[in-house]
Amino acid sequence: MDFFEINADLHIHSKYARAVSEKMEIPILAEQAKLKGVQLLGTGDCLHNKWLAHLKETLKGDGIYTYKNSETKFVLQTEVQALGRVHHVILLPSFSKADELREKLSKYSNNLDADGRPWLKIMGEEIAEKVLECDGMFGPAHAFTPYFGMYAHFNTLKECYGKYADKVSFLELGLSADSKMADRISELHKLTFLSNSDAHSPYPLRIAREFNRLKIKDLTYDELKKALHQKDGRKVTMNCGFYPEHGKYHLSRCKNCLRFYKLEDAKKLNWKCGECGGIINKGVVDKILEISDSDGNPDRVKYVHIYPLTEIIATVYNIKTFSSKTVSGVWNKFVQQFGNEINVLIDAPIEELKKVDLKVGEYIEAFRKEEIKQIPGGAGEYGKLLPLGENEEIEFFKYKQKNLGEF
Ligand SMILES: [Zn+2]
Ligand SMILES: [Zn+2]
Repeated sequence: MDFFEINADLHIHSKYARAVSEKMEIPILAEQAKLKGVQLLGTGDCLHNKWLAHLKETLKGDGIYTYKNSETKFVLQTEVQALGRVHHVILLPSFSKADELREKLSKYSNNLDADGRPWLKIMGEEIAEKVLECDGMFGPAHAFTPYFGMYAHFNTLKECYGKYADKVSFLELGLSADSKMADRISELHKLTFLSNSDAHSPYPLRIAREFNRLKIKDLTYDELKKALHQKDGRKVTMNCGFYPEHGKYHLSRCKNCLRFYKLEDAKKLNWKCGECGGIINKGVVDKILEISDSDGNPDRVKYVHIYPLTEIIATVYNIKTFSSKTVSGVWNKFVQQFGNEINVLIDAPIEELKKVDLKVGEYIEAFRKEEIKQIPGGAGEYGKLLPLGENEEIEFFKYKQKNLGEF
């Protein structure tokens, strides 16, 4: 068999998780994933009783699942919250193993079904043990975000996963970090990075807003496992996602007045804002600077920065609402011509894109050349894309580049 590549988004949520769209159901996901251009989706929330029942009802397969004749495939996936508020992503090989893990974990939760993302009263090490007993895979979710990321609470994989640290299958970068940032930590150099959407709605604006390209020989759970463990030529060949500046927790910033802070200044002020006395939220860049022990990793696969096409169109046309008719009209033109959104963003020839819409084509070209500028995010506020040519002098780009090198 020959190798081929697919696009995969391995972390989403169901309508049973907090703040998730009621539309988050398998038939809609299957259809929207095709428009987005992603062939494999995590199911989200596969330990939740009602969602698991929906999955069993709608999906057929063995390890990798299909909805009716759809081209979209699914793998059983959930996210759990451990004691100490760390989030973990879990992948499972079958419905029977999902039932088994539900059974094992129900002892450690007041109510596994209270939320799509269950709260467990055990630490990462015990979660790892239970997942491994069910032949599943696990890794930290959005590992660098404050509050729920592993590195917000621990300085190493070992501190988090104890004797199972070397069984971690992947690390999810999250929207506020990319490979270059994460590779400043040497213990991660051998580990596969995942860039997933953590989507709360099924539309191409959200699903696979970050995704992974996998090289495999067959679309099976075993092949997925080999790819994540970089076995026999199978691997993740590309991570794709936001510029980390876009993330809500990118730079250290006052939660109250939104003033940005450099690490050394925030420390001097004991993380209390000098302007207003508010709490300074530690950004991902500064968290990484604190624990960094490496200049980078030359062997890492490429990370391609991109945003959802809807957001690009809205920026180009200076339209505030993503649901505007102009935005969806341009989006439809592109997707009809090129088959799906990821093809437009990553693979289609720029000259062809420019024929559909010159300004949007130019913006995507700037993305592919890494020439996009934006106001960085922090303290829970997303970053903001700037139109081409607009180049606000942002002191913090210089700060970050001085400290983390160019990326
Ligand atoms: Zn999470
Ligand atoms: Zn302040």
